[in-house]
Amino acid sequence: MVERIVEMIYKSKIAIGEIEIFPIYEMEVGDLIQEITPMATPENIKEIKWLIPRYADCNGKLKGVIQSFLIKSGTNNILVDTCVGNDKPRSYKPWKNANTDFLIKLEELNIASQDINFVISTHLHTDHIGWNTILENGRWVPTFPNAQYIMVKGEYDYWKLNSQEDFNDSVVPIINDGLAKFVDSNYKIDDNISLIPTPGHTSYHVSVLIKSKGQSAIIVGDLFHHPCEINYPEWTTNSEFDKNILINSRKMLLQKIANKSIVFIGSHFSEPYAGKITWENNMFEFK
Ligand SMILES: [Zn+2]
Repeated sequence: MVERIVEMIYKSKIAIGEIEIFPIYEMEVGDLIQEITPMATPENIKEIKWLIPRYADCNGKLKGVIQSFLIKSGTNNILVDTCVGNDKPRSYKPWKNANTDFLIKLEELNIASQDINFVISTHLHTDHIGWNTILENGRWVPTFPNAQYIMVKGEYDYWKLNSQEDFNDSVVPIINDGLAKFVDSNYKIDDNISLIPTPGHTSYHVSVLIKSKGQSAIIVGDLFHHPCEINYPEWTTNSEFDKNILINSRKMLLQKIANKSIVFIGSHFSEPYAGKITWENNMFEFK
């Protein structure tokens, strides 16, 4: 069983030049994405033929996942976003006191918690910060004790003022242990990895740009929740900070990378989560 899982994980890794990117799957989230996206009705989804069967089933039901990405860049092990996490007291039922094998999936890639050097947050929503911390003897402590947790300063400041339970159990312990690094929206982690501002879902949301040996990829976080939004960038969810800014960020990125070789990586996209953006017949598509 473990062998089969390892094989599946390796199958879905991608290489960008000398950098390897592995998805770390946590749980399904297609139902929720559909619920909070008013335009993504089963009828509308069935009309977008290229979504089926990879990103929706034949009844127009969306597929989607919660996953992190492990980036292996030289000696750096970088985790982009940290999903929902275990044991968190959330109100949404599938996330409440979740118990997933996320850390085991990392171990199967020969990565222990201690081996992560950087944790990058695209934004500070519940399903992107959960594994920042784990429960140890009744206290929330950093899961990755040797990591620098990279957060955009503006994003942190916003949530500090609008603080919720998830911020308190998944961000505050990182600050208290001195592991946070506050950065600008265009911060460079190393020669290969940098942030790019993609605001709208939250006001300081960022995407992660990866470059190596002439190849490049972008991990989009929640700039897009589902491939249907590539076809219709104006389809937004009920949880956007500013819909107009978001739609503008989406269109700017799509226009910039369409029909080019840059790889688009959808944080909530089911397999295949990576592809190219095309512009054909007045429509963007994900291939
Ligand atoms: Zn999300």
